[in-house]
Amino acid sequence: MGRKNIPLAVAFVLLVQMAAQAQPDRWQQRVKYNMDVNLDVNSNVIEGKQKITYTNNSPDTLNEVFIHLYWNAFQPNSGMDVRSRELGETVLGKNKDGSNKLDWDDRVKDRIAKLQPNEIGYCKVTSITLNGKKQETIPYETILKVNLSSPILPKSTVIFQTSFESQVPVQIRRSGRNSAQGIQFSITQWYPKIVEYDYTGWNANPYIAREFYGVWGDYDVNITLNKAYKIGASGVLQNAAEIGWGYDKEGSPLKNISNATRTWKFKAENVHDFAWAADTTYKHITRKAPNGPLLHFIYKQVDSVETAWQRNADTCAMAYPFMAQHFGAYPWPVYSFIQGGDGGMEYAMATLIKTQSLGTMLHEWMHSWYQQLMGTNESLYSWMDEGFTTYAETRTSQWLRKKPAFAQEGSYKSYYNLVASRREEPMTTHADHYNTNYAYSNDAYSKGAVFLAQLGYIISDSLLDKTLLEYYRLWKFKHPNPNDFVRLAEKVSGLELKWYPQDWINTTKTIDYKIDSLWSDGQKTNIRIKRLGDIAMPVDVQLWFKDSSQETHYVPLALMYGIKPAENAFPRTVYAPQPWTHREMVISTTRPLTDIITVEIDPSLRLADVDRKNNKLELKW
Ligand SMILES: [Zn+2]
Repeated sequence: MGRKNIPLAVAFVLLVQMAAQAQPDRWQQRVKYNMDVNLDVNSNVIEGKQKITYTNNSPDTLNEVFIHLYWNAFQPNSGMDVRSRELGETVLGKNKDGSNKLDWDDRVKDRIAKLQPNEIGYCKVTSITLNGKKQETIPYETILKVNLSSPILPKSTVIFQTSFESQVPVQIRRSGRNSAQGIQFSITQWYPKIVEYDYTGWNANPYIAREFYGVWGDYDVNITLNKAYKIGASGVLQNAAEIGWGYDKEGSPLKNISNATRTWKFKAENVHDFAWAADTTYKHITRKAPNGPLLHFIYKQVDSVETAWQRNADTCAMAYPFMAQHFGAYPWPVYSFIQGGDGGMEYAMATLIKTQSLGTMLHEWMHSWYQQLMGTNESLYSWMDEGFTTYAETRTSQWLRKKPAFAQEGSYKSYYNLVASRREEPMTTHADHYNTNYAYSNDAYSKGAVFLAQLGYIISDSLLDKTLLEYYRLWKFKHPNPNDFVRLAEKVSGLELKWYPQDWINTTKTIDYKIDSLWSDGQKTNIRIKRLGDIAMPVDVQLWFKDSSQETHYVPLALMYGIKPAENAFPRTVYAPQPWTHREMVISTTRPLTDIITVEIDPSLRLADVDRKNNKLELKW
């Protein structure tokens, strides 16, 4: 907008509007990968060349860069191998047959220790130059440190060129060859990848078990391999007319060529990873999501599951409008569900999934929001990735089932089990540093989903929905951290919320309220509520009467400095805010004691009260 004289009143309105819509000002590094790779399907070796255009948008001068070499984890005595075997010795309890229940990741176990030289994975950078000059490198297993011959200055762009060689490991975890379902090549975390540098510095996390963090950028990837193979990948196929196989038009065959190999050219823009998979028996179908992306489904054709793939493809397309309405529009042109890997793992514009499970499909696709778009640092805040995705996936499947039920019930159950196990660790724990796989997954997926559902209890579900849409609008492509999300929820709700993550995220303290006593004082009926747990929360109490009327009683927490809007149409009594230090509160109704048939603390079940038995009282008169 050009310079103009703006009247003062108009200027004020403009300022207020700008403040309401301000985008958070957080710089991001930027990368562009041009890659030419060749997979030899007999030796399982990938030879590749990369041109990496790297822009330093930080205010810092960089004297080194770090590069991920993930496949070096698939070697005996690697960090992943040793850690997996150590966790596998932890006894979590007993199995039904009386044997010890061990904390294995069943996919990894001690399989890496047994790999032969032609079965291991590796990724070797055979040469790297910066602006044409050869660079010195120091390998640290899955991380390569590059000591730069000349620094990368703030706001400057440099070009790295690499040659690399990778061996596709036997499929152990996520990537690899010959998966249990018979997919030949699952090629993920496979290329030398620049580590993210952000406001905290370099994030050079070795590959131990958990997930990823990356630099947004553009990928131009040309993959050459035996012509009999069919590929599903991140991004849009650029030479669809040359390839055929449903990429040019639905149902078209793979084009016949005389060469022994064929080159597939993919482009994926504004993403932080690139994955692909190849198999000779793949089938390819597509669906168009209403007002959304073209969905590709690429899977091994097996008669017994063909209808399930077709049906679930329809359901994914059908689910999209709900997903977009509640969590924001999917911004890329395509999304590919590719059979491969060992469970479900999310990548840019694609997922590798083991089978056609609808729950897994919806979960991985929702990671496009809470992984690709937000780009949460999953080493540090795995719950913002897995927990938010679980929450969104569950909301979506509940909508698909069209059954009124508490969508997050499963996550609450897993969280309660985690508390009972006494293995809980604070959600601030680095994802790879949890003492058990069990605590990691219940924290990240379940306690993380409960974080959101319970935020709905604190600020109201309607303001939680609004917060999630604002989160999408303001924080996509910006690597938000927990404080960014909580601060946004504060702005949307007008409530102070810092106390919530302080206990829920940073500690393993728990919530427990109980109905202590009821008595009549001649004029009113009083109900005493006691807090047994260490976390103080706002308290909703619902009263049911004999004439089937109801009342809502709401005791806000003083630390909120405000109240949530009413969430139902029943008469609501709002009490003086309760200081967090106080463990007792009394609510009262003008109705006689003998009119009351039920008293319940939080009938919505969103309050993660670890002992719900003392939350409800049914009176028989
Ligand atoms: Zn997930």
